[in-house]
Amino acid sequence: MADDSIAVVDLDRCQPDRCSYECKNYCPPNRTGKECITLRGEETAEGQPEQVRISEEICLGESCGICVEKCPFDAIEIINLPQELEDEPAHRYGENAFSLYGLPAPQEGQVTGILGPNGIGKTTAVRILAGELEPNLGRYEESPDWDDVLEAYRGTELQDYIADIRDGEITVARKPQYVDQIPNQFDGNTRQLLEQTDERDALDNLVERLSIGPVMDQAIEDLSGGELQRVALAATLARDTDFYFLDEITPYLDIGQRVTAARLIRELAEEEGKSMLVVEHDLAILDLLADTLHVAYGEPGAYGVITPPKSVRNGINEYLAGYLDNENMRIRQNPIEFEEHAPRTATHGDVLVDYPDLTKSYGDGEFSLEVEGGEIHRNEVLGIVGPNGIGKSTFAKLLTGNLEPDTGDADLNLDISYKPQYVTIDQPMRVDAFLSSITDQFGSSYWNTEIAQPLQLERIMEQNLSDLSGGERQRVAIAACLSESADLYLLDEPSAHLDVEQRVQATSAIRRYAEQQDSTVMVIDHDTYMIDLLADRLMVFDGEPAAHGHAGQPQSMRNGMNEFLANLEVTFRRDERTSRPRINKPDSQLDREQKREGEYYYA
Ligand code: ADP
Ligand code: ADP
Ligand code: SF4
Repeated sequence: MADDSIAVVDLDRCQPDRCSYECKNYCPPNRTGKECITLRGEETAEGQPEQVRISEEICLGESCGICVEKCPFDAIEIINLPQELEDEPAHRYGENAFSLYGLPAPQEGQVTGILGPNGIGKTTAVRILAGELEPNLGRYEESPDWDDVLEAYRGTELQDYIADIRDGEITVARKPQYVDQIPNQFDGNTRQLLEQTDERDALDNLVERLSIGPVMDQAIEDLSGGELQRVALAATLARDTDFYFLDEITPYLDIGQRVTAARLIRELAEEEGKSMLVVEHDLAILDLLADTLHVAYGEPGAYGVITPPKSVRNGINEYLAGYLDNENMRIRQNPIEFEEHAPRTATHGDVLVDYPDLTKSYGDGEFSLEVEGGEIHRNEVLGIVGPNGIGKSTFAKLLTGNLEPDTGDADLNLDISYKPQYVTIDQPMRVDAFLSSITDQFGSSYWNTEIAQPLQLERIMEQNLSDLSGGERQRVAIAACLSESADLYLLDEPSAHLDVEQRVQATSAIRRYAEQQDSTVMVIDHDTYMIDLLADRLMVFDGEPAAHGHAGQPQSMRNGMNEFLANLEVTFRRDERTSRPRINKPDSQLDREQKREGEYYYA
């Protein structure tokens, strides 16, 4: 009846052994004898009650939504599709399952970006372009073949590409999103893993540029997340294929490493004429990396739409504005805004802690850290930046008392709640049980509004920690850290594996929390936008990674950003329309001017 609406039943959530089919009993068409919500029949495992299916022809659409309300497990979504969506989907996984509209169009010699939330169909699109998944054009009962697909895409940018897939002529190299899982799939050392991939005779260059040399003979299972990320990048870029797909390149990398990774990808497109497709949530890096951009929007888990290509600048600006110009489509209520001359002035809170000069070295002085004494204020968010391996976590451990300094007295008497960079919570325990064991505020309306809602925890409360995706686990870890009662909250790389929307929401949850609880938050992160939106003041680490580190005093955002980016020799300009910071081309006129003036960020 409602032509443009879809019904999605999440079969992982639908548990008829634990409800009494309220959806079916209350559905208005069912109550008048129609077969709108029915049982799936033999598809269910033996002995289990049957799950439900919903007829999209009979369903009254989103304005009814009674079943959505009645289902105790949030298994049902009824969604009115945007009217602008006239075409049939590229693929639908099955009846009442996720559907994907539109496909990205990789171009030879270009880097194509995809920007959008998790769960919106990016991987689905890539599996189609890799020839792994034959798209059914939404006709899941008929299973159309590649000739039908080619017919549907005749006259579009994808026609030639799809003809090549049909003829088996496309080869693909892929870097997976969750590099932490690589050790489960490969038993051996870095050299063994990389040698299998060196099809372009490019490995030596990749190993050098990505600084992989020191871990070549290390077992893959002993690598840190940042090392795994660089090894996975090298393994993908060393292959000789037509089409490269990279699902998130930045998690666990510092800014210098992010910029290097972006340059390597650009070179492969520009110099070798390869097609590169990249999903990335660090907007400054995406901006630097991509030639064109597809924005993905929709309802995660229900349907996703991949727009035709836009210029990178327009794509990111429209995404941040929450409104897609050509599509005439609002994708978010509120824009994400950057202030032009933003640096927040230092907060006026009392001094929470006044720590002295500290030093710490490991082993026979293989690594040594020098910390300049400083003050941390109550009520502030202190950003911490610097390369990997420079002593940021060591400083954190000195503050938490987990580590004794060699000189200086760090007996701070503070309760500190710490979220480590590599989140390892994976006990066989439900999310709600885990979080309620941390705070008796769990479930209160304050906790729900300030923590559960902005971190989108409602839908995963009943899941086991061990079944969570990387982004879900990150959100639970941030919630757990903030839920502890402490004087100081220290979060190491909260942006890892979160999409842009989630980064912005996590950022504002962290800021509000600091303000309302009169507490102090320190955040280590490498996403410049996140640090810009989040921090009141900045602490900059410099030195030589893995050899010696130096931690400066907390300082104003402007001075801190200038010092930090001068070390990296990277300058940012402001986008004229939105004031969004954008990385300047090295040696461009603006780059040289800003360096001369010493204004690296808030120019
Ligand atoms: P993204 O890469 O944007 O995070 P995906 O393409 O991985 O998104 O997934 C989009 C949606 O499709 C998810 O809700 C996922 O649960 C669903 N999905 C993925 N694979 C299948 C499948 N084989 N059968 C049914 N649904 C699937
Ligand atoms: P960051 O947090 O900035 O990435 P870390 O403080 O984790 O840096 O590490 C700084 C350096 O100290 C690295 O070279 C690391 O390998 C080394 N290191 C860290 N912990 C230890 C330890 N317990 N023993 C020996 N070396 C260590
Ligand atoms: Fe029935 Fe559709 Fe209403 Fe759900 S939304 S109760 S399926 S009519």
